[in-house]
Amino acid sequence: MTLSLSPMELSLNQCIKCNICTTVCPVSAVTDRFPGPKYEGPQAGRFRYYYQPAPDISVDYCSGCRMCNMACPTGVKIAELNARARANLVNQGKIPFQQRVRNNMIARSELLGKLAQPVAPLANAILSN
Ligand code: SF4
Ligand code: SF4
Repeated sequence: MTLSLSPMELSLNQCIKCNICTTVCPVSAVTDRFPGPKYEGPQAGRFRYYYQPAPDISVDYCSGCRMCNMACPTGVKIAELNARARANLVNQGKIPFQQRVRNNMIARSELLGKLAQPVAPLANAILSN
């Protein structure tokens, strides 16, 4: 089997395990359920070669903010590795239904705004109280 990896996938080999990405990740700062960019991107990424099933679904907590990409001194495409891993999890049907609904709502801010518009006066009144 010929293995053809994209430059994005190959970028995980540039990881020098400095952990700078973990210090800037807003998600790993607030929950132990997300082990951090170094683990989710270059580390776990090695086990996803040949599109094997991901080790766990913790990568679904990545918000895709790309703070890790900007901080990484060696140019590892962490956010993209995470996005690809999440897409594979979705294709494998491994993301629970509730999380899929949540992800789709968050990803569609215009739709979320339209749905929330009718209750905006009530929400504003509660918040200003
Ligand atoms: S893209 Fe994901 S892993 Fe990177 S800093 Fe943002 S939440 Fe953390
Ligand atoms: S910042 Fe880059 S090189 Fe350092 S641990 Fe994270 S991915 Fe690896």
